[in-house]
Amino acid sequence: MQAARFYGIRDVRVDDIPKPACSPGQVLVKVAYAGICGSDLHIYRKEMFVKYLQETMGHEFSGTIEEVGAGVGGWQPGDQVVGDPRVGCGSCAWCLQGAYNLCPDLGFIGEVSPGCFAEYILADPQRLLRIPPAVDLRRAALVEPLAVALHLLDQGAVTGDTTLGIIGSGPIGLLTIVAAKALGVRQVAVLDISGPRLELARRIGADRTLTAFPEDGTDTVDVAVEAVGVASTLDGAFKWVRPEGRLAMVALYEEPVTIDPNYIVGKELHLVGVNAYTTADLERAVGFLATCPPDIEQVISHVLPLNSVARGFELLTTPGSTCAKILLAPGT
Ligand SMILES: [Zn+2]
Ligand SMILES: [Zn+2]
Repeated sequence: MQAARFYGIRDVRVDDIPKPACSPGQVLVKVAYAGICGSDLHIYRKEMFVKYLQETMGHEFSGTIEEVGAGVGGWQPGDQVVGDPRVGCGSCAWCLQGAYNLCPDLGFIGEVSPGCFAEYILADPQRLLRIPPAVDLRRAALVEPLAVALHLLDQGAVTGDTTLGIIGSGPIGLLTIVAAKALGVRQVAVLDISGPRLELARRIGADRTLTAFPEDGTDTVDVAVEAVGVASTLDGAFKWVRPEGRLAMVALYEEPVTIDPNYIVGKELHLVGVNAYTTADLERAVGFLATCPPDIEQVISHVLPLNSVARGFELLTTPGSTCAKILLAPGT
């Protein structure tokens, strides 16, 4: 089968590797769509997170069960699924409660074990979520990043009355807009330097778009979401959020940054991290995608065959990129 594997910085190759054999207790999933995530870009640019070279990349996927291993109940070939890609140590206090996102050794498929940028992936049946037959698998490929958006709205304690400011209109920012509007948040502002991305943000529900942080110190938000991951956006977030407001930090940083802690002290800010999602967030994301309006699919800017994976990474890492979510479609 074809698989896109990581050879080193800016070096992703499509190789022919053996199709995995389905052992007892496992299921084999034929991958329909696999999304390139921001964390894949950190691997591509900086070799972050990845444990083995030539690992098959990718952790966001939807697909169909091809084969069910001996002893596995509840699943049939043909069932539509998405995967929970979190890989915890399995033995810490957080893993034992199923809170894998808080495991000190948290990794993801595609980083610490073979990922989904391939025609097939072996999965633990307990880590699959069922997708109703009526839901298109293209849309279902958004479950994982949508779960991040739902988790961040919870972490930010966002309610309908919250004035929400999202910094960065990449896939996480865009899905946060869709989720926030569906949850009844009345004021959603989005900041980005890309005109086309802001246009898309408006089309899917943003009430206000900005290309720079407001100069006026009274033009603030209750909750800011930092979804970019560079020093200037973190600094801007501190300025944008109101006194006693909240800053939800979802971006990962490729370099350590210097901050001015006086913003936190002076405004009595509440800072909260957002690391992936809980199992309940994934289940909520499945339910949300089954019923939400078609607008959400505008977040998918490209669907490329697996052998165009290198082009996908180039598109996403070119300065001034206007891409949103790129899906790979193995087997096409
Ligand atoms: Zn992801
Ligand atoms: Zn653990």
